[in-house]
Amino acid sequence: MKNIELLKDPTMLSQGIYLQLAVKLKLLDDAIIRSNEPEEVLTFTYKPPINTRFIIPWRKVKGKLRRLVLEKQRGLKIEPECYLKDALCMRCPSCFLFGGTGETNEKGPYKKQNYNILSRVLGETFISTSEVGEIQPYTENAVDEVNLTTGQALMNIVTVPKETEFLGVVTLRDPSPEMASILVDNMNRLTRLGASTREWGRIRTEILGYKLSDREELSAYDYVPPKDPINGLKNIADLKLPEVDESYKNLDLDVKNLLKKYKLIT
Ligand SMILES: [Zn+2]
Repeated sequence: MKNIELLKDPTMLSQGIYLQLAVKLKLLDDAIIRSNEPEEVLTFTYKPPINTRFIIPWRKVKGKLRRLVLEKQRGLKIEPECYLKDALCMRCPSCFLFGGTGETNEKGPYKKQNYNILSRVLGETFISTSEVGEIQPYTENAVDEVNLTTGQALMNIVTVPKETEFLGVVTLRDPSPEMASILVDNMNRLTRLGASTREWGRIRTEILGYKLSDREELSAYDYVPPKDPINGLKNIADLKLPEVDESYKNLDLDVKNLLKKYKLIT
């Protein structure tokens, strides 16, 4: 099998290269998750031997990651007016990595754009490494799932005890070294979760290793205990990624050149 490497430069069209990061999140505080969104599931019952687990929906992790990237690039004076959700510039490292729809932009200094960008950062549900039942002894009311009615909405509240660990896989499609550097840096800066940090508290993030492949090979579902741990992960340091501030600046130039080449911006 041919050796798969990071791309030299970012590309517009997919090249079929996937950098997958196996990630462990550990709650440092008890987390109280409130939800009145019916599609938001906070525990899920899988087939044995996984059974019932706490889960963190990918969009919660992605939302937080994107905010961190936006903050950091603003500090570097790269498209400082770009913000979620209706003032995306559609030409910065954050928009290139996390995607966007140009037509919905109506606020800020950016005009509507006729193009969309697909997210190059792909994720999946994070699954707790222990069963909901097993982790009950950590606190008195470790699992306290209540349904409250607030107005017309049914609100769902779940307490997840501190020290609960979650396993997930974050995938970067068609990665250049700069894109990978920015993603890895921000995974490591992920110290809180969710839009409302009060409800989630602190977390510790650890990248267990990576796999570079021509397909998405890894999924937490296949590796949460009691299943076997992931085999053949490589150490992220082996990628020898470029320094992160330089990566933002270079990716910003690369993205703008790419969009110009495709005549999407002038
Ligand atoms: Zn942007």
